[in-house]
Amino acid sequence: MSTTFTGVGVSAGRVIGPVRRMPDPIAAPSDGALLPEGITAEQESARLAEATRAVAAGLKERAATATGDAADVLKATALMASDKSLLKSATKLVASGTRAESAIWEAADAVATQLAALGGYMAERATDVLDVRARIVAELRGVPAPGIPDAEEPFVLWAADLAPADTATLDPTRVLALVTSGGGPQSHTAIVARSLGLPAIVAAADTVVLVDGDVVFVDGIDGTVVRNPGATEAALAEAYASRVALPAFDGTGQLSDGHRVPLLANVGSGSDAKDAAAAGAEGVGLLRTEFCFLGRDSEPTHAEQVKAYRAVFDAFAGSKVVVRTLDAGADKPLPFLTDDSEPNPALGVRGYRTDAAVPGVLDRQLAAIAEAASGSEAEVWTMAPMISTPAEAAAFAGLCAGAGLTTPGVMVEVPSAAVMARQVVSEVSFASIGTNDLTQYTMAADRQVGPLAEFNDPWQPAVLHLVRSTCEGGASAAGGPKPVGVCGEAAADPALAVVLVGLGVATLSMNRRALPAVAAILKTVDRAEAQRIAHLALGAGSADEARTLVRAALPELDVFGL
Ligand code: PEP
Ligand code: MG
Repeated sequence: MSTTFTGVGVSAGRVIGPVRRMPDPIAAPSDGALLPEGITAEQESARLAEATRAVAAGLKERAATATGDAADVLKATALMASDKSLLKSATKLVASGTRAESAIWEAADAVATQLAALGGYMAERATDVLDVRARIVAELRGVPAPGIPDAEEPFVLWAADLAPADTATLDPTRVLALVTSGGGPQSHTAIVARSLGLPAIVAAADTVVLVDGDVVFVDGIDGTVVRNPGATEAALAEAYASRVALPAFDGTGQLSDGHRVPLLANVGSGSDAKDAAAAGAEGVGLLRTEFCFLGRDSEPTHAEQVKAYRAVFDAFAGSKVVVRTLDAGADKPLPFLTDDSEPNPALGVRGYRTDAAVPGVLDRQLAAIAEAASGSEAEVWTMAPMISTPAEAAAFAGLCAGAGLTTPGVMVEVPSAAVMARQVVSEVSFASIGTNDLTQYTMAADRQVGPLAEFNDPWQPAVLHLVRSTCEGGASAAGGPKPVGVCGEAAADPALAVVLVGLGVATLSMNRRALPAVAAILKTVDRAEAQRIAHLALGAGSADEARTLVRAALPELDVFGL
């Protein structure tokens, strides 16, 4: 009998294969925390330092043979393993008579707890520290490091959650798909699975019952896992295996009737921007400036900012680059801007709101953007995150004008801005909908909370109604229509992209890897069809119903295995 488990599909694909579970994690030291007779603190410290060095060297070695995201993740984990402060705190404990294993265990715990308390991006780094700890303890014990199991036959990897160093070294010729009971759409599992093109499902809590050798069908499109699949699943997997390869993006986003929908990229650095330009992106629809400075505990200098922004502008000379001002807070804490004691950071002083709490940082950022823009060929637009009212939009436009930036805009991420879109957008030159936040605020479901993934779905019809309201607001803005784009993850879903265009969205900005799929599906509909499909989604009673109705109207999705 087959059993179906549900999770969140974070990387497309449909395969069938046997399950292999990740080995159990390294257990906490239990063999006495104190140094045994005859072993000095110096000897124990040296053993700890040697184990740490060996782990860092091993990770570096793996980083050297890996490429792309995998190499970056491994390098970052190796850096964490070489982190002097971690070793220093552990060595202090050893000096006071603690065994190496227990010392590193405790020291890493303290660091991970601090990171977890920061929330968001920083909290996800806590997993990296715990991963490094497990590797060091394994080295001290002389047991194999935790990691991907070995198996002759390709397998579906099951884990509670995957550590970055594991996901980074996944061999896609041996691993068919990833299923995790924990994690979320922003976990490393999700990011690496997408970059390797492996089907992946996260937050599938009930899959903990799967055991080695269980045969499962993994549907990364629908977010389901079927144990003991039957003929229907076999046919779906077969159809996926014989999918038509996506053509590369030719650099012009358009519908079948020639209606233009510029396809832009979301970037966080100059090197991202270069990669996006090489992938054919028509510009940058979202430069997440806070990504240039994450982990910094002081405000970046004017020169640092100019350099970081210029690197992005130079990759897109002659094209539009939309710079978002610092979006600190909640999932992206920046110590120089955010108060980590807030009880509910997602509803706190974040995004544009930090300007009132810490005046000056935004003015200085706008000055740096203006200087970087003045020496470049890019067409620079500037927008503020988390705008909630027309007054905030007007105030931001005033600040931009003061800095000499001529195209101010707002991100529509808060339902109030979507409902009041005409008044909000009338104050500026354009709007860009951040569907990630708009979804979490519309559904009152924290985007960081795995068990709420079902609500945190941009297919929720309530979110789509607010997208429509925003587009209508842009179209009827005082002084003439103003363009409304989308730069949240929704734009990277080819089926949802059609809906967004049908609702009146002018441009779509996404991870560069999504460009070929979105471009290929947009080309299969004309404007009237996109509008009709958008109406199907608006009329649905649930996210699942909306997705199902729309997918049924876009047969090319199956052709390309999307
Ligand atoms: C969004 O909220 O959709 C968005 C693009 O911003 P971020 O994901 O950086 O909050
Ligand atoms: Mg946002």
